[in-house]
Amino acid sequence: MHQMTIAELAAELRAGTFSSEELTRSCLERISRLDPQLNSVITVTSDSAMAAARQADARLRQGNAPVITGIPFLHKDIFCTEGVRTSCGSRMLDNFKAPYDATVTARLKDAGAIMLGKTNMDEFAMGSSNETSFYGPVRNPWDLDRVPGGSSGGSAAAVAARLAPMATGTDTGGSIRQPAALCGITGLKPTYGRVSRYGMIAFASSLDQAGPLTTSAADAAVMLQTISGFDPRDSTSIERPVDDYLQQLDNDLTGLRIGLPKEYFGAGLDPQIAAAIEAAIDEFKKLGASVHDISLPNSQLSVPTYYVVAPAECSSNLSRMDGVRFGYRCENPKDLQDLYVRSRGEGFGPEVKRRIMIGTYALSAGYYDAYYLKAQQARRLIRDDFVSAFEQVDVIMGPTAPSTAFRLGEKSDDPVSMYLSDIYTIAVNLAGLPGMSIPAGFANGLPLGLQLIGNYFEEGRLLNVAHKYQQISDWHTRMPDNF
Ligand code: GLN
Repeated sequence: MHQMTIAELAAELRAGTFSSEELTRSCLERISRLDPQLNSVITVTSDSAMAAARQADARLRQGNAPVITGIPFLHKDIFCTEGVRTSCGSRMLDNFKAPYDATVTARLKDAGAIMLGKTNMDEFAMGSSNETSFYGPVRNPWDLDRVPGGSSGGSAAAVAARLAPMATGTDTGGSIRQPAALCGITGLKPTYGRVSRYGMIAFASSLDQAGPLTTSAADAAVMLQTISGFDPRDSTSIERPVDDYLQQLDNDLTGLRIGLPKEYFGAGLDPQIAAAIEAAIDEFKKLGASVHDISLPNSQLSVPTYYVVAPAECSSNLSRMDGVRFGYRCENPKDLQDLYVRSRGEGFGPEVKRRIMIGTYALSAGYYDAYYLKAQQARRLIRDDFVSAFEQVDVIMGPTAPSTAFRLGEKSDDPVSMYLSDIYTIAVNLAGLPGMSIPAGFANGLPLGLQLIGNYFEEGRLLNVAHKYQQISDWHTRMPDNF
């Protein structure tokens, strides 16, 4: 069962080969048996999962249930889940049970998908290795001494180990695509505004988007279809109909114009990854696509720009964690000032504090023009590069990450080298574009990802391009040993 795609599982559920109750029990059993090695799941919701599975079985018997009905998923612990701990990987919210469901949570539940539990993540989604979590690091199922990437590392590791057929992630600078690449699975960050951010704990509000982590593009299409769409409760959600992603999956790729930005193949890229990416791109030529050299001249500005914009927004968003309204409160505060200082001092970890300090500094009077305003201007240039590129090509391709999974601890004392893990993904968030990572081979025995970047609202095209590649390759079907 655990090796099946969503489409296969959906067919077997309808054929009566097994029930959602049996499927859910089997996933829960795999989590309890295998996850102690990974630490990818931090809350298991067995009872509510079994109850939801029984309801899904009843709905399936009635007919007309959506494809996703009865299919289990794991949910990144950044999404509010009514009555279930929603920690965001932080001590600050270790005791927080959300009083309501995020829109993404509600849409999955309403469609009959079964939430198995919540996944580990970098604290407040700040990180590229899952080592900043209050609940300890997640391990990569391909090599337990290595990181799974981050910040959606728990979700990516769990799907790679086939603990669940799908999981949610969020991506502010690469947190869906980079862990997907490092764990050998498929991940998609939608266009900014395509998926509601309501009830998704905010890191950097102008960059955050939720998306699917699955083993294949066809599965990602099912999940994205379920979670996308306008939400009046999110003022940045876009009022525009959702395309039929499944219907576009098999479109012919003849005439597709692929752009290869020269900035994505320069120094700093592992030569084995470069070779695998070039081999994958050759496969697209066989599918009828043409390949064009392009340039995104302001690419080198993206990491520094992001590390002003994202901390600035996080310093504002995290000010609500004050020890008063909800979350962690220090013991025996001597006055109000002491309560704020110690609650925040004890509740946040070092990376989160570093970001809050950078952001507060960049936004302070006297520095605002020099940093935040300047970063917003650079952000516009980065976006304009993509706008001109999409006048010449339909999809941009390159590596997702400059290296394969690194060792636990290898970069934890060097924030800048950690930040560079997202060098190819961050610009996509700054521009608000959709981006995807799909498995495209191995280097040093570890999986690597091919990144696809599309024009605004072209999620359907990305899924189509990825699906066509997955029909002629088998990287996405490879599984780590021992799982
Ligand atoms: N690794 C980047 C950061 O630490 C991106 C994280 C994300 O996308 N949430 O900010």
